Amino acid sequence: MSFKVFLFASIFICAAYVASCQEKSSKVGAAQKSKLVCIKNAGTEYVSLESIAKDFDAEIVRSGYSVTISKSGVIAKFVSKDRYFYYNDCKLFICNPILLWKKKLYLAMNDYESYVQPMFSPKVIANSTPGLKTIVIDPGHGGKDSGTVNRLHRLEEKNLTLAVAKIVQAELKLLGFNAILTRNSDVHRELADRVADANSVKADFFVSIHFNSADSKSARGVEIFTLTPAGQPSSYSSNRTASDSVSFAGNEFDHWNTIAGYSMLYSMKQRLKFSDRGVKHARFEVLKRLSCPGILIETEFLSNNVVAKLFTTQDYIENTALAIVNGVYRYYLNINAISKLRS
Ligand SMILES: [Zn+2]
Repeated sequence: MSFKVFLFASIFICAAYVASCQEKSSKVGAAQKSKLVCIKNAGTEYVSLESIAKDFDAEIVRSGYSVTISKSGVIAKFVSKDRYFYYNDCKLFICNPILLWKKKLYLAMNDYESYVQPMFSPKVIANSTPGLKTIVIDPGHGGKDSGTVNRLHRLEEKNLTLAVAKIVQAELKLLGFNAILTRNSDVHRELADRVADANSVKADFFVSIHFNSADSKSARGVEIFTLTPAGQPSSYSSNRTASDSVSFAGNEFDHWNTIAGYSMLYSMKQRLKFSDRGVKHARFEVLKRLSCPGILIETEFLSNNVVAKLFTTQDYIENTALAIVNGVYRYYLNINAISKLRS
């Protein structure tokens, strides 16, 4: 197909889908009655950021290829072609690049529903607000599975995840939560058993703690992962595959996972002052079959010798654990605020 024909086809398709988008938006909830302006491009439905801002009754500022939406002290920034946006300076990944069409920016409808709407308008989330009493903390790896290692500083991921998790558990208990570990010694546990632990105690929240590794020795910063919504590509693949269409039990909590991931990233960033690597999305085994919201934290890069050295001190391990506790507590505050908003 020549470029001209393709472009024409796009315009035709875009125009044809305005009506169906409006129909869809009216089903989302009382606060979503209007006026989302949609187009369809290459089989994906997109909604204009301008109409999203209008719908949220938010201010919008356009500058070149970027759009900033703000309301009640919250600022979200979107840039053409990016596969992420910034929400209060936290980098939140979306599944599809932001589209520029006729000098306006558009967000894929799925990304709007999974990542933007829960942040700006949590009142319309379909399922009930989760509580937060029992939290299962999962120290990654263990036993024969060391995870990633830093030979220079003689650090093994399995030992650091356990050291951090034990402090997190103790601090959460002091705050009145019921905090349970999936392992409290250097033992191997299957991923499925860790999830089964959480489901059998009817956990309200699952937090898996890991450390990262990269070929680049300078890579650093925290990454938070949530389960990729059904039908969407994960953060490390750019194209949809047939396996992306599968929906897992954990996808019931997509919206709450978004709020939990943001709460954790925001809190860790505040305390540890790291460069922001964002909330990303993957279909990790420990997230797929959870019966509650869950996140996986890639705490830092042990492959970075400067960073790894920090973790040779108990002070830094404690500081990291407290940052995670702050993240859990911020999630608790956020869901309580949402619960009040919805009552
Ligand atoms: Zn790991």
